[in-house]
Amino acid sequence: MRIVKTTQGPQDLQARIVELEAEVEKLRKLTERDDLTGCLRRDAFLTLLERRRSFGFLPKTTTLAVVDIDHFKRVNDTYGHAAGDQVLVQVSRALGDHAPEGSLICRMGGEEFVIVMMMKPEEAQAELEKLRRHLQGMNILTPEGQMIQITASFGAVAWNSDRPLREASITADLALYEAKKQGRNQVRMAS
Ligand code: GH3
Ligand code: MG
Ligand code: MG
Repeated sequence: MRIVKTTQGPQDLQARIVELEAEVEKLRKLTERDDLTGCLRRDAFLTLLERRRSFGFLPKTTTLAVVDIDHFKRVNDTYGHAAGDQVLVQVSRALGDHAPEGSLICRMGGEEFVIVMMMKPEEAQAELEKLRRHLQGMNILTPEGQMIQITASFGAVAWNSDRPLREASITADLALYEAKKQGRNQVRMAS
């Protein structure tokens, strides 16, 4: 073992520890978000949701929605992966800008996002419909200067925050599957 002599006093060390803690916190924050879109990653999203729930910050009934870009593979195949990435960036930005105040948004993976709206499905349906229309109306400029339009399908369900999120998320996925089956570019609310 090598012993390094230091001239630092306890106060210097304390300051260094504070500095390192701030650095660790900064790094932890970076891992919470997806590099490409800046959206919360799945784990960070679940942690944040659980924290809000345990502090009693969630309304009893919220709405859990799964959003999946339609025929996204075709975007990659037709315009290239960089164009697909640009679509993901623009879609996540649009969701963040246009979802109601207080919503939590996460990139679950690939071209799938999850939104928790702090309202009952009766109100959330109109908000999701607005988001759907907004996405449909977007013109997305690819890195090569082409303009792309996309659509997305939505599956949503009421989530009572006393219940496991997993249950609601399975039901929202089924509603999304229905939306895809019925022709995509639509919002399906689970009954
Ligand atoms: P559907 O309407 O049924 O959802 O069809 P889809 O083509 O959107 O779905 P599918 O699951 O067949 O394809 C998803 C594609 O998303 C395949 C994968 O290569 C692509 N993808 C996943 N993550 C990324 C990413 O970070 N960037 C890009 N450019 N593509 C991604
Ligand atoms: Mg898709
Ligand atoms: Mg998908």
